[in-house]
Amino acid sequence: MKIETVLCREGSMDNYAYIIIDEDTGVSAIVDAPEAANIVNRCLELGIKPEYILNTHHHFDHTDANIELKNIFGSKIVGAAYDEHRIPGIDISVRDGDIFKIGSLEAHIIHAEGHTTGHILWYFSKEKALFTGDVLFNLCVGGLFEGTSEQMLNSLKKIKTLPDDVMFYPGHEYTIHAIGFAMRANTGNSVMDEYVKIAQERLDKGLPVSPISLGMEKACNPYLKADSKEDIKNLF
Ligand code: FE
Ligand code: ZN
Repeated sequence: MKIETVLCREGSMDNYAYIIIDEDTGVSAIVDAPEAANIVNRCLELGIKPEYILNTHHHFDHTDANIELKNIFGSKIVGAAYDEHRIPGIDISVRDGDIFKIGSLEAHIIHAEGHTTGHILWYFSKEKALFTGDVLFNLCVGGLFEGTSEQMLNSLKKIKTLPDDVMFYPGHEYTIHAIGFAMRANTGNSVMDEYVKIAQERLDKGLPVSPISLGMEKACNPYLKADSKEDIKNLF
C-alpha cells in the first residue's frame, strides 16, 4: 500500500487528506476530503482516479469536497452508517467490525466516538496503518464535540489494543499546539525526547509529523496514557 499525505486548508485548519493506492490492483482511495484542489492535483500527478472517498466523520473539514471529488473522479463515498444522514453524497455505509475492500487491501472499521458520535477509524491491519481522523492526533486528541470523556476513553482504549508497530495518520497537523504540554507531562521520558527530535526534523523540512508509530504515541501522548475518565476530563 502506498500512502500519500496531502496538506489541505493550510494555515486555517491544517487538515490532512491521504491518498492510498493498492499497488497490486491499482485501486486507490482518498481518506477524507477537506478541499478539492490539492487532492485533485495530487491525483492527476499520480495518474490515478480514486474509486472511493473514505470519510472518518461528518465534519465539514473532512467532507467538504466529497461531492466535488465524486463529480470529478466518479468516486464512491464511504462513511459511517451512524452518520448516513449527515455525510454529503454517501454511497456506501460501514459499521464497527466491518471489513471494507479497496482492491486487495482490507480496511477494518472501528467505531470510535467521543469527538463525534459517528466517528470511525480506518485500520489496515496487514499494512500496519491506522487513519484516526479527529480522534487521535500527534500528542493530543480531538475535542469532545458530541461525546463524553468516557466515550473518548473507550475509543482510546481500542487504539491502545492495536500493535505498537502500526503507524497512525491523523486528520490534522496539530503537533506544534500539543508538544509543549506533552513535554511537560513527560519529563524524563526518553521516548518523548526522541519524539520531539523526529517532530522537529520533519517540521523543519516542511513535512508532516505523521506517521508516528502507535508504540511511540502510547508512550508519549498524555491522553493515551490516561486510564480513567477523570484523567481524560482533567486533560481537557
Ligand atoms: Fe472533526
Ligand atoms: Zn477536523
